[in-house]
Amino acid sequence: MRLFECGSLVPGCDWHTRANDDAEVVRRAVEHMRTAHGETMIRESMVEHIKERIVNEKAADAA
Ligand SMILES: [Zn+2]
Repeated sequence: MRLFECGSLVPGCDWHTRANDDAEVVRRAVEHMRTAHGETMIRESMVEHIKERIVNEKAADAA
């Protein structure tokens, strides 16, 4: 699973999301930026910042 913690981008925010692929994580993170942080203009640089902060999350059942 891929994990994005908003606190790595917006200090103090404890929202996070996880998904099987980066595209889905980015999609959810952008939606969160819009609704929670009032970012109506999602810039390319913000998408890059989100991608840079997506990490692998070790799953107990990982092969
Ligand atoms: Zn947030």
